[in-house]
Amino acid sequence: MEIPTQEIKIVNSTVKVFIRREDLIHPFVSGNKFRKLKYNLLQAIKENHHTLLTFGGAYSNHIAATAYAGKESGFKTIGIIRGDELASKIKENPTLKFAQDCGMKFEFVSREQYRMKESSDFISKLNEKYGSYYLVPEGGTNSYAILGCEEILTNEDFIFDYICCSVGTGGTIAGISNSITGKQKVLGFPSLKGDFLQKDICNFAKQDNFSLISDYHFGGYGKVNEELILFINTFYKEYKIPLDPIYTGKMVFGVIDLIKKNYFPENSKILLIHTGGIQGVEGMNIKLKNKNLQTIGFDD
Ligand SMILES: *Cc1c(COP(=O)(O)O)cnc(C)c1O
Repeated sequence: MEIPTQEIKIVNSTVKVFIRREDLIHPFVSGNKFRKLKYNLLQAIKENHHTLLTFGGAYSNHIAATAYAGKESGFKTIGIIRGDELASKIKENPTLKFAQDCGMKFEFVSREQYRMKESSDFISKLNEKYGSYYLVPEGGTNSYAILGCEEILTNEDFIFDYICCSVGTGGTIAGISNSITGKQKVLGFPSLKGDFLQKDICNFAKQDNFSLISDYHFGGYGKVNEELILFINTFYKEYKIPLDPIYTGKMVFGVIDLIKKNYFPENSKILLIHTGGIQGVEGMNIKLKNKNLQTIGFDD
């Protein structure tokens, strides 16, 4: 599939900005989560597995993607979901409802249990309960995921000076970093607080060509404010491109702010990677509405 690239015209600036619409890979499933699952699914088939098991939060793009891709490839899917209070609220949660409609079975665990999900104790309980399965880590990031993310850029993308992407677990930026050449630079915009990321990315990244810009997390993972929501709505009105509030909205906000601050040299060519995440908008809007705040709108 050829992924469209659109120009984003920035007034009063010499830099040229383009966005790669990986969000269009699927209307409901994050582009980068498909990339991350691709070689994991091939490996699961190779190992003769029939079930995928993975982990995620209430609004997780990765849970939605695993449920959908698993169904498409003939796997049963099990989602270990953070928060036991959610068990009775599946119908009110668009992400969980979508995953369930794709056939995913859930196990809801408390936040304490979820924190211990990599312990041998927890894993052996899962083994007892579910028998044999292929385990996809939280957020999908492992060496197979990096291979998939190395396919985001194409041979024509050498023309860009900067590649910008959002950062969660760091798998996507590691794949992009591995696939670029020469003087190109990757800028990652973490959507969460914390300084553990640089190290995590270095586990997978083979080149020293990326930097993290940590000023645009808006208070942490899943946190938003009115300025960000207004930005996403205005950006949609202007360019007709939807951005999600957890990842891509923060990254694009950051890039535009840096352009205003003359961070980029004159005439730089910048490619933004739209990694998707649009399925999370509905859940975020429910939360915003409950707090009487402005919601995200993609109406024309
Ligand atoms: C998961 C996700 C990311 C972060 O990807 P990592 O590989 O975990 O850094 C970015 N954007 C969207 C839309 C995502 O769903």
